Amino acid sequence: MRKPKIVILGAGYGGLMTATRLQKAVGANDAEIILVNKNDYHYETTWLHEASAGTLHHDRVRYDISKVIDNSKIEFVKGTAVEIKTEEKKVLLEKGELEYDYLVVSLGGESETFGIKGLKEYAFSISNVNSARQIREHIEYQFATYNTEKEKDDTRLTIVVGGAGFTGIEFLGELGNRIPELCKEYDVDFEKVKVICVEAAPMVLPGFDPELVEYAVAHLEKKGVQFRIGTAIKEGTPDGIIVAKGENDVEEIKAGTVVWAAGIRGNAIIEKSGFEAMRGRVKVDANLRAPGHDNIFIIGDSSLVINEEIDRPYPPTAQIAMQQGEVVARNLAALLHNKELETFKYDNKGTVCSLGDDDAIGVAFGKKLVGTKASFMKKMIDNRALYMIGGASLVAKKGKFNVLK
Ligand code: FAD
Repeated sequence: MRKPKIVILGAGYGGLMTATRLQKAVGANDAEIILVNKNDYHYETTWLHEASAGTLHHDRVRYDISKVIDNSKIEFVKGTAVEIKTEEKKVLLEKGELEYDYLVVSLGGESETFGIKGLKEYAFSISNVNSARQIREHIEYQFATYNTEKEKDDTRLTIVVGGAGFTGIEFLGELGNRIPELCKEYDVDFEKVKVICVEAAPMVLPGFDPELVEYAVAHLEKKGVQFRIGTAIKEGTPDGIIVAKGENDVEEIKAGTVVWAAGIRGNAIIEKSGFEAMRGRVKVDANLRAPGHDNIFIIGDSSLVINEEIDRPYPPTAQIAMQQGEVVARNLAALLHNKELETFKYDNKGTVCSLGDDDAIGVAFGKKLVGTKASFMKKMIDNRALYMIGGASLVAKKGKFNVLK
């Protein structure tokens, strides 16, 4: 008898969690499992702000997928998915196609620029290993070029970060530590460098405890970050950005580097494949399946789960993607063994936002944390994600142990 075929698209937090749990939950004769990913490595998306600022080498944020999966149970295919043909139960790849009986879509998200003119063309986004390398190298190039020019252009040394949400603040935290190093490396006067965070909302880190936000803002301001809150980016240009505070208060900020860190939407494949979605994210059912598709699970940044308490979607995080992966693995095993499916319930274990390698803010186990304690907790969370997927050996290889600063 033909074995049911399970295809997992994407080897990020959600996909790898599904794969590594599934390989334990089902026998080799129960199903054929195929894991598809663009690259033959997984990257820790939650560490990309460090690689982007240059405070962590890009190779530290990635590891080989083949090292963490059971290659006797899972076939790994290095490939890029381009469309899902749900009627035909097929995934089209850039090269070739794959049939499936059950599909897990865990392709992550994409930067959302809300139609703001020029941002796609002129702003960077922290999306993957290569975009992080590009940001780091671009900033370094600006510093290296500055001193070689006869007529010095100070705006080369201005870095604009669009968005004071989680990603924007974590990136600013790393820049706060990296800029003094860059100034030293490239003989640049620190006073010439400007780091400006532009945020349309009236506050930094919406949803975070106000006391913690105050701590974060004070910490970053001390490191030289200027906040422009309640200020919307209207346009990205080759020379920087155009912002507006009110109707008539329009201003140009010239900058050598603009990093857009203010929005995320689901993977473009979701809409291309005809799933009903809000900003590319599918509101999945209680078992994490796409409505109307009993054999398709969607998890991670391309899925949308409502927090019933406030009737709003949970923000897309690695924490939720990993928990979804665990449930999907169990639900796939249940489908194979004709058992009842599990309902997904998010267990929020807290959130810690780093402010550089040595400082952070957060709430963990219901307690507010700042400074070294929060930074320690952040590293433990990072190590836990490694442990959950690759066990102690992966933590030993890739873990963060510089906790006793
Ligand atoms: P991802 O982990 O992004 O994985 C998607 C995978 O799919 C990747 O391997 C990618 O290469 C692959 N892929 C994409 N398209 C294709 C394709 N067409 N074909 C084949 N493969 C493809 N969350 C937290 O919980 N805590 C944090 O502290 C935190 N910090 C963050 C800091 C930064 C700088 C950023 C950018 C995000 C942060 N997040 C954090 C959010 C978190 O990283 C995401 O929510 C999480 O990565 C989503 O997991 P995922 O499995 O959906 O996708």
